[in-house]
Amino acid sequence: MAVTDNRNILGKIRGHVAEAKNRFRLDAKERIEAERIPHSIIFNRNEIYRAQWSPAKILNTTLGGFYRPITLDDLRVFQQNMIRFRKEVGKNVFDQTYAGVTPRQVINISASTPLSYRPGGIYKNDLDKARRQITMAMPVSATGNTIRFLTNAGGESKATRHNVIVQLLEYDSAISQLYTADKNNRKKPSQLANAIRKGRVKFDCDCERHRYFFRFLATIGGFNAGRPEEGYPKIRNPNLRGIACKHVIRVMTELESSNTTLKFLTKHLEKAETKAVTSMKQRDLDNQLKSKRPSAIKTSDQRKSEAEARRAQRAMKKGLEKTKKKPNLKPNERTPKRNKTDWTKGLTKEQINAMKLTAQTLGISVEQLVKTFKGKK
Ligand SMILES: [Zn+2]
Repeated sequence: MAVTDNRNILGKIRGHVAEAKNRFRLDAKERIEAERIPHSIIFNRNEIYRAQWSPAKILNTTLGGFYRPITLDDLRVFQQNMIRFRKEVGKNVFDQTYAGVTPRQVINISASTPLSYRPGGIYKNDLDKARRQITMAMPVSATGNTIRFLTNAGGESKATRHNVIVQLLEYDSAISQLYTADKNNRKKPSQLANAIRKGRVKFDCDCERHRYFFRFLATIGGFNAGRPEEGYPKIRNPNLRGIACKHVIRVMTELESSNTTLKFLTKHLEKAETKAVTSMKQRDLDNQLKSKRPSAIKTSDQRKSEAEARRAQRAMKKGLEKTKKKPNLKPNERTPKRNKTDWTKGLTKEQINAMKLTAQTLGISVEQLVKTFKGKK
């Protein structure tokens, strides 16, 4: 396959913070306006729980597969969906304090409970798009526990790239472990970086998919790094399926498993005492993009079955090596022959035959077998 030049795929680093801030500001402004308009159709979480809303509000849903007015029964389904989702991300219904989600959970839930696109289309769901469309994500700056990633934009997006913001929730404890006075418990920055990138995170993306389909889920799941969204996605995602857009899925993968991110985080931790901000230089980004390939997005099930296959392969190889014949050496290179009848001493003919048969079954010589028995004594 031809190697494509990725150098310009993410554009200029300069201005990425302002770009993200502007997009999020616009999002917040439009959201306030949508709530303010007369007969707003935003259906807030509290209205669902109270089962009370302004009669002027005409509320519809696509629950059940077609567009129709919301009934009281729908409210029960919405509530159950919220409980189900919070359970899925490991949240106790009553506990609002335990925040965050792990990159592993994001990848697994994207696969196990996907928000599917219409059947028959080119792409199945967000995970599928993350694999095939969003081929690049790089950390470009970090301030304290917040890492900013840039990703390329997929086909239908109006933007040329997207900003994904990730808060590493284990960052503070990593810093205290890094500078602990207790030398025995002190860890290396690379070890800590590797731990926090697999730990709990909060995230935000400046794309419309996150905004309209997933921001509510991030809010009720306690892992929104940006503006909270209290309006239930009753039209776009009434069953609360999926968990993250394709950009976030790509970022979670690179965060969790790419070497580039590990190095970046390690550097950020190393400097933490003197410098709160770590930025990637444009030259470094361009250079890395030249050779960077997207990390494979694998669910835990896929990893497990791959590991099993590798184990089986190793076992088979080992077995083959055991049965391999010894190289043919010239007579003078051979180790002196031991008396072959040594091991048969004191054994009956039946016992000797049994030993031979066992050795054959195990694929080893009788001498080896005898040695094993002697070793066990
Ligand atoms: Zn996105």
